[in-house]
Amino acid sequence: MKTELMSWSAKRRPEYLEQLCETTYDVLIIGGGITGAGILRGCGLQGIKAALIEKDDFAFGTSSKSTRLAHGGARYIVNLEFGLVREETHERDWMRNAFPNMVRPVPIIYANYNATESLAMRMYFKIYDALSGWKNYKNTRHLSKKEIEMLEPNLKFPGLHSGSLLYECIINDARLTIEVVKEGVMSGGVAVNYVRAKRVVTKNERAVGVEAQDRETGHILNINARNIINATGSGLFSSFQEGIEKMVHQRDRFEPNPKNRAVYETMYKCYQDFYPRVADLYRKTKKIASPKE
Ligand SMILES: Cc1cc2nc3c(=O)[nH]c(=O)nc-3n(C[C@H](O)[C@H](O)[C@H](O)COP(=O)(O)OP(=O)(O)OC[C@H]3O[C@@H](n4cnc5c(N)ncnc54)[C@H](O)[C@@H]3O)c2cc1C
Repeated sequence: MKTELMSWSAKRRPEYLEQLCETTYDVLIIGGGITGAGILRGCGLQGIKAALIEKDDFAFGTSSKSTRLAHGGARYIVNLEFGLVREETHERDWMRNAFPNMVRPVPIIYANYNATESLAMRMYFKIYDALSGWKNYKNTRHLSKKEIEMLEPNLKFPGLHSGSLLYECIINDARLTIEVVKEGVMSGGVAVNYVRAKRVVTKNERAVGVEAQDRETGHILNINARNIINATGSGLFSSFQEGIEKMVHQRDRFEPNPKNRAVYETMYKCYQDFYPRVADLYRKTKKIASPKE
């Protein structure tokens, strides 16, 4: 197995492409973000013959553009989604143990501004810790006003009462994706980037494969598979994703999909409300970061 990973190299790309066209896979995954990578890994661990194709580099989509926080979903407690919080906290803690070099605990201060809020948040975070099975890096701790001022002497909290110190995790999203792809390959899967799925091939109304294009050579590849998984990112944000691609490459102007106009208009309004409040801080930060500008 190790030999397989050690020899996973761009130099062997023609061989992988040949393999893609000659094998009938149990599962073909389209999209090499964290979702596709996780599915490849999961298939490999269960002995399912799987292949993954990605149209750009691995983690090209939102999997390299997140805020890099692996949180346990504390905010979902408000919606009484306890099962979801339980699952998310357990996943976060599993990732911290499985990839300690890439998923690191990060302390977060939650500030309270009056006694009622302070009491409510203490109870809230107790529930959060309990839902994680008390397995988080450290349980949430109450902080007095003085402790917060000591921990963050450069920040001003007008009207501060007290706070909570909780731990979430910070991740390197793109690298984590690559590591998960590598684990998928190590357990027998095939993963090739710069291969774009063009259309699903059907036979008797059943999907039997995918017609794809090698973006390096332009060659068309016919990949056979019993099951095809679309892991190309969220439907709502597929146009958003294209927008991100355009912005990243600065090829074009960002044109929102007219179908999602309401979403963009709301986002833009939030931005308009928010920006004047942080503009000054932004300018100051920029000045510190690049004093010559
Ligand atoms: C601004 C922002 C902040 C976020 N912050 C967080 C956070 O703090 N914590 C957190 O857990 N989550 C966060 N998320 C969510 C998280 O980033 C996404 O849930 C996750 O990246 C989704 O991964 P994915 O694999 O489903 O999609 P993607 O990463 O978008 O992967 C889809 C892949 O499919 C490929 N693809 C598309 N079409 C084709 C095709 N035809 N053929 C082959 N490949 C194709 C794309 O190139 C892409 O690489 C954030 C998201 C955003 C946008």
